[in-house]
Amino acid sequence: MALDPRSLLFMAAFMASFMGVVLFFMRRYFPPHIRGLGLWALAPAAWVAAATLLGLRGLIGEFSSVVLGNVFTMLGSVLFYLGCRRFYGHAAGYWRWGAALLAKALLLVWMTHVSPWPAGRMVVFTAMMLLVFGSNLHFMLRHGEPRFPARMVITVLALQIAVLLLRLQAAVSGQVSNQLLDPSLIQVVYLGSYALFVLLLSIGAVLLATDRLTRELEHLATHDGLTGALNRRAILQRCAEELERCRRFGQGLTLMMLDLDHFKTINDTRGHQHGDAVLAHFVQRVQDTLRRTDRLGRYGGEEFLVLLPHTDLPAALQTAERIHAALATGHALDCQLSIGISIWAGAQDTLDTLLARADKALYLAKEQGRNRTCTA
Ligand code: GH3
Ligand code: MG
Ligand code: MG
Repeated sequence: MALDPRSLLFMAAFMASFMGVVLFFMRRYFPPHIRGLGLWALAPAAWVAAATLLGLRGLIGEFSSVVLGNVFTMLGSVLFYLGCRRFYGHAAGYWRWGAALLAKALLLVWMTHVSPWPAGRMVVFTAMMLLVFGSNLHFMLRHGEPRFPARMVITVLALQIAVLLLRLQAAVSGQVSNQLLDPSLIQVVYLGSYALFVLLLSIGAVLLATDRLTRELEHLATHDGLTGALNRRAILQRCAEELERCRRFGQGLTLMMLDLDHFKTINDTRGHQHGDAVLAHFVQRVQDTLRRTDRLGRYGGEEFLVLLPHTDLPAALQTAERIHAALATGHALDCQLSIGISIWAGAQDTLDTLLARADKALYLAKEQGRNRTCTA
């Protein structure tokens, strides 16, 4: 197939329809709290209509090809932008963009049927598209997270703006005619990039949604639902990894086992829900006292592990004191706890021996009257 403008437009329609189907199924099977997929699925549908109408230029009426074709092109980009807004939890702003589309349609009707002016039409079209892409780019730069999918969408939007500006500049300087199907180089590049951008933006939407779902599932699989601390499997895995690093680099680590004192009494006297609130408060307070590299995980009901990499006994005892102090501030959910500490004892130490020593130290702390820290 030759790369003539009409073929490029039909290629864009084909790609967009494929991506529309993918996004439609994602919208159906992804959890409904991942917003924006419906709008993202509609965007390629509008692009298919646009590319088909534009590709039939000369074979169908001017109203369908020029006015509707251009309005659908913009509609696809608006839907994509509104999808991004919904995805990041912002209001879509349907009315504002609906009004912009209507204004554009009226201008195009005027410049096509009332007072034909193809050059003016092109300027209106480019200005409107720049408005959509510019808003979308600005939004993504402000709200997109610094990860590949958002960066990809940002790059494609920036390139799309650059191509539009180049085409506008070429049109103003008379290098390109106002004929959509003019097979000049700039027009072929413009339409080819349009086909590519339609594809890349839809892929960007797919990646944004899958990336979010993956991270959510990963979080669910590694975190405790009640307290938000790492769950047992995840904290033990972090400990095993850190232990491996200790063996390789000999930097040492400390493991703390924390157990709330008389928690059963708290439950029995204040109720289970109050007990839950105490646990959540406890985790929040402990997290606040830890360094970024320290890890807190729920080991069992009201037992927790704290992993302190590169930490010796004096530093660990200081941390333990900070934890005791953070839970004795007079807050209604404050509680007392006992802490057992074990220090990495060399290459022969395993996770089991470390845990056994921390458990023994915790037992000592309980035996000596609770609300204290012991070492083993
Ligand atoms: P000690 O000072 O010896 O540690 O006494 P304790 O009462 O804290 O210890 P015990 O092991 O006898 O009781 C732990 C209690 O923790 C019993 C269990 O019902 C409660 N528990 C475990 N998980 C949860 C939870 O998710 N929410 C609430 N509210 N309670 C929990
Ligand atoms: Mg307890
Ligand atoms: Mg216990």
